[in-house]
Amino acid sequence: MDKDELLKQAKDRFSFMQRNKIEKAIDFASVKHNGQLRASGEPYITHPLSVASILIDWQVDLDSVIAAILHDTLEDTDTTLQEIEDNFGKDIAFLIDGVTKVSAARKGMREIKSYLPKTRDNLSKFLIAIGKDSRVLVIKLADRLHNLRTLKYLSPEKQHKIADESLEVFARLADRLGMGRVRVEIEEISFSYLEPKRYSYLKKLTKKRVAKAYARLYKVKDEVSDILKEQKIKHQIDGRIKSIYSLHRKLTKYDEDINEVYDLMAIRVIVGSKSSCYKTLGIIHNLYQPIIHKIKDYIATPKTNGYQSLHTTVKTSDDQIIEFQIRTKQMHDFAENGMAASFHYNEQKQSKNYFKRRSVSALPEHLDWTSQLKQTAKLVQEGTPIEDIKVDLFGDRIFIYSPDGDIYDLPEGSFPLDFAYAVHSDIGDSSKTFIVNGKIARFDHQLNSGDVVEVKTSQSNHPKSDWLKYVKTAKARNKIKTKLKTKSV
Ligand code: MN
Repeated sequence: MDKDELLKQAKDRFSFMQRNKIEKAIDFASVKHNGQLRASGEPYITHPLSVASILIDWQVDLDSVIAAILHDTLEDTDTTLQEIEDNFGKDIAFLIDGVTKVSAARKGMREIKSYLPKTRDNLSKFLIAIGKDSRVLVIKLADRLHNLRTLKYLSPEKQHKIADESLEVFARLADRLGMGRVRVEIEEISFSYLEPKRYSYLKKLTKKRVAKAYARLYKVKDEVSDILKEQKIKHQIDGRIKSIYSLHRKLTKYDEDINEVYDLMAIRVIVGSKSSCYKTLGIIHNLYQPIIHKIKDYIATPKTNGYQSLHTTVKTSDDQIIEFQIRTKQMHDFAENGMAASFHYNEQKQSKNYFKRRSVSALPEHLDWTSQLKQTAKLVQEGTPIEDIKVDLFGDRIFIYSPDGDIYDLPEGSFPLDFAYAVHSDIGDSSKTFIVNGKIARFDHQLNSGDVVEVKTSQSNHPKSDWLKYVKTAKARNKIKTKLKTKSV
């Protein structure tokens, strides 16, 4: 990637004036990185330009692209923050400072597996940097992706370390931001370096299976497409093979029996509106036998990262098992680029034409991970143990419903008290009895995704020290400890 190529790519997305700003940043960074080389032997500047190119591809805003071009100048050259602010303004300086802080915080990490900075100060910086403006994290993800794509030039030890950290931290972060396409690429590359033998074995295995099944997959695709045309539902339809890494995880779960892995192949249908999604689902169920427990309505109930789609797995007349994903174009853009795509929408918001265009699918605040990050940063500053924070940030999540149908997103393994504190700390503090799915549940009852939890409170009830055994979230633990302290004073 060089200057001309990047400017050419920017042409579709940015105006002449905006491209002038991009050019100024390229010239600035080129002078600063002059003489530095990448491990591949190429001039260093190819790296920040490639990162900017990835970001343009993700449709991010102008500030993020410029920040990406300059992202390594603070850390790797004599450039000062003031210099960046003077030349490119406060917003861009803020983004670059954030990206640099995330790198600095990462350097303070303990052993690889504990993917969080070691010191409270570093952790706090890390969270504040990414929580204040999630564009920082998106730039960091593009940076990491380019480093992964060029990993072959590094020593085996470095390859292993970077691949491991990418899988443990960056793939999860991408997932949290709803950036599905990025998550998959990070997983595929990382896994190919971490377990090269397994990777190539699985690649061969799918190729064999898929070659046999592809013809049948296309037959199903055409069948569905024909009926959609008949019903005048405009659509795009494509078949695809699941990623090697997700196959690896499924096989591990099903004792290596590939016949148990149903959704090796998936067909994706993109339609014009939400109601067409449901119509399409009906048409597919009319054609093929659905596997009932595999029907998922992520449109009515989006995933915690904002992902929306209808999923169904069906058995065709010739015994093929195929997963269908049905969504609108907007849901599809979000599934691929997630948070990054939403910056683009924010950019539109500022222009006059915004209201004529489609609106942003805004998430309720309690499901928005970046607002959770801000809360987590606060918990760190208040002294919450780092181990507790880790569960909140990177653990798998479950959905819990209140009796009114409000959804709460909690870490896997949460208890009723975690739910009570998630609703409100007063409710947590005065919890007396829990009713889970209509039945009284004990304090040590672990919740499952989809549970409906009702909390009965009593003003005379107060936190007890053994409550600490029945909480998983840092928030609940913290609130209980605070109450216990004030009581004993
Ligand atoms: Mn970099």
